[in-house]
Amino acid sequence: MHVKKGDLVKVLAGKDKGKQGKIIRSLPKESRVVVEKVNLIKKHQKPTQKYPQGGIIAMEAPLHVSNVMVICPSCKKPTRTGHKFLDNGKKVRQCKRCGAAIE
Ligand SMILES: [Zn+2]
Repeated sequence: MHVKKGDLVKVLAGKDKGKQGKIIRSLPKESRVVVEKVNLIKKHQKPTQKYPQGGIIAMEAPLHVSNVMVICPSCKKPTRTGHKFLDNGKKVRQCKRCGAAIE
């Protein structure tokens, strides 16, 4: 997966195309991610401790990773990512636009 939890991403397809948000959950087995406030669906929720009222709540549905692009923290643009190795040998993702490492 080219993205992970905590990444800021831009949505490339679907009803929230163009929106930006932070990844709050990743589902590597399904190659999907859940992005904050993106792809919201209405869900009928039974009353639980977390939702004592129950009823209809809005929650984020997972998006396929191919529909999101990482926003580079350095140049602030959506970018494809490559890989590079830091001086300490750690492998990190790299912005294809500006070359900055993306931790
Ligand atoms: Zn960049």
